[in-house]
Amino acid sequence: MPSRDNPPPIPGEILDRLHRGILLRTGAYRTDEHIVLRSGRHTAEFVAKALVTTEPTFTEGLGDLVATHFSRSPLDLVLTTGHGAGLIGHCVARAHPSRPRVIFATKERTADNQTDVVLPPEYRAFFAEGGRVLIVEDILTTGETVRQLIRLVDSMGGQVVGVGAVWRRSASLQFKYPMFTVVTRPVPTYAPADCPMCQRGTPSTREVPAGAPDGDPEE
Ligand SMILES: [Zn+2]
Repeated sequence: MPSRDNPPPIPGEILDRLHRGILLRTGAYRTDEHIVLRSGRHTAEFVAKALVTTEPTFTEGLGDLVATHFSRSPLDLVLTTGHGAGLIGHCVARAHPSRPRVIFATKERTADNQTDVVLPPEYRAFFAEGGRVLIVEDILTTGETVRQLIRLVDSMGGQVVGVGAVWRRSASLQFKYPMFTVVTRPVPTYAPADCPMCQRGTPSTREVPAGAPDGDPEE
């Protein structure tokens, strides 16, 4: 029986919209653009990755959501990469009852000109203390960085507890571990003939950089 102490769960779709509201308020999430993607399809939505973590109160709120989801899983380490993910990882660790350490891996170019994640040697000792790891990222597009982080944890003898992120661009993106993303939303795209922005005569607002995956104007 729902009560004030035990409120009924908020349906996922509404929760997702509330969470997108947080991102809208940071200025990172834009819904009023007119972007021509590399595939030739058009979209109005854009997530500016660099803006997600510019307001500490919002970053803490996002970290808190991820930490709350995994609060019953004991953690030793939060593992991240990059600047934005590092800030979110810090906030997740701060809010998690296990008080895990926060560590990061760096993205490095490999001999065959790919990129892979590398753990600074100073962090190796932390895996001897238990090694229950929550992987934290900001925006998941292909999931490749997370797959590399999973392999890294495996190679260190650690145990992946789960994957937490702010935004997952595809609901079909899954790993073999529990995952929580604050927002799960693919970018809605339109064929030029069906594009509402084209029909209104809105000029396009952003160029998609060469090499960017479709649906991800920034990367
Ligand atoms: Zn258009």
